[in-house]
Amino acid sequence: MGFHDLVRTEQSLLARCGTAYFTERLGALTDAELGEPTLLQGWTRRHLVAHVSYNAVALGNLLDWAATGNETPMYTSPEQRGRDIEEGATMSPAALRNLFDHTVARLDEKWRNLPDAAWDAKVFTVHGRSVPAVETLWMRSREVWIHTVDLANGGRFDVFPDVIAQSLLDDVVGIWRKRDVGTGLAFRIDDRPPVAVQPESPTGTTITGSLAAVTRWATGRGAIGITTTGPAVAVPSWL
Ligand code: ZN
Repeated sequence: MGFHDLVRTEQSLLARCGTAYFTERLGALTDAELGEPTLLQGWTRRHLVAHVSYNAVALGNLLDWAATGNETPMYTSPEQRGRDIEEGATMSPAALRNLFDHTVARLDEKWRNLPDAAWDAKVFTVHGRSVPAVETLWMRSREVWIHTVDLANGGRFDVFPDVIAQSLLDDVVGIWRKRDVGTGLAFRIDDRPPVAVQPESPTGTTITGSLAAVTRWATGRGAIGITTTGPAVAVPSWL
């Protein structure tokens, strides 16, 4: 069972729970701690909070697009997206926290007010993928759950609902398959049969662990609680 098999109300609940998790971890940080590094190379917590805020705006743009039919992309350009994050990171802690609360509330409002028919309307993601508007619930869930861990103040994969962890892992493996990377790599979660990233190729390395540990490894957030059988491999990138 993956995120996409759930009904919209359940998907929506998971997106909100993830936001609540991020909000809770953000609330536990002092203003000074916002300047410290995250798990993401080159980004402080300020950058990350700005990014998660502007991601809410970007997804809100897709909901406007779905509701009105007027093309409003997530970001004007990759440069603009980068500049907004850099500028956001220079805001005062109070302004940054405000930006986060405000953008989260706005996105929530747009989801609540989206007419039933518009949920199936096709919009384009920043990667040029055509998706129905309902996909914004997964896009946001993915962001808020993983980035809570990236805040690096106690966010953990093992508190993720199983359906979130499993769907993240499925996303990553799907992207690797499409890019033809991860050949020879397989995952074994608990006592389940191993799953090869490229099923046509023989397995060289198996990564074994809990769903949380394997998902953490596959998303490039560290090797904790996993065992590697076979030659060590670098985690292929998925973003
Ligand atoms: Zn992100």
